[in-house]
Amino acid sequence: MLRDLNLVPGDTRPARELFKRRIPEKIPSLEGICQLGGETGPAWRECPVAYTGAYEKGIEAGIITMRDPQNKEQAKVDSCDMIARADRLRVRPHHLLCILCAYGGSMRGPLVEDNLWEILVRSRENPDIEVELIEGACMICPPCQGYDPDREICDAGCGLRDRLKDLNTFQKLGLQHGDVLPAKQLWALLFEKLESLADICDNPGGCIPEWTTCGGTHSGKYERLREEGVEKLLNPEE
Ligand code: SF4
Ligand code: SF4
Repeated sequence: MLRDLNLVPGDTRPARELFKRRIPEKIPSLEGICQLGGETGPAWRECPVAYTGAYEKGIEAGIITMRDPQNKEQAKVDSCDMIARADRLRVRPHHLLCILCAYGGSMRGPLVEDNLWEILVRSRENPDIEVELIEGACMICPPCQGYDPDREICDAGCGLRDRLKDLNTFQKLGLQHGDVLPAKQLWALLFEKLESLADICDNPGGCIPEWTTCGGTHSGKYERLREEGVEKLLNPEE
């Protein structure tokens, strides 16, 4: 099992990562684990449950309770209201890039799972609105499945690599946690300092899920919007 899960003794992962994603993905059946194709000796007795289908049923049913959909819906309403009324937006830096990735694709209105659209809209409505760059979960996160509303943190499996993306974005911009810029100036700085999304989001050597390269990295969406410039981003013709 450890080999199939890409783990070694002593590794620690959140229960959600193991039971919700990795075990169902990597070990969909008990073949080769509890189902050994016959008993070769007294030490190799097969478990009587191995062939009953109980494991597969358990995998299908799932044992991790995800966030209550109503809780997420309410979080979407409340956080959008907060963003609409805010004098200052609080955003983790790599989420600026995610806004561009989403907008460079099909995002033309609010998304259910995050508030990327709402931050872009506030930037357009008021290009001088203050944006404070922060580490960790931000105004974009409350409706997300990976957001823990009790602790107000991101505990998604991509959480660690997202923290590195924040640090790398800060470094490219020459900024740090707590810095505040007007929205338009921040978008302009981003386009000026960051030529390619791959500089932040790529990780060709990533061989475990937590470090894999995000699907949008080589899409070219960021680079296209960068080419078009800040004026078009904030004053679209659509
Ligand atoms: S590649 Fe993924 S993490 Fe990077 S900006 Fe796009 S959506 Fe965000
Ligand atoms: S995955 Fe984490 S950082 Fe990204 S939107 Fe969800 S809670 Fe926020």
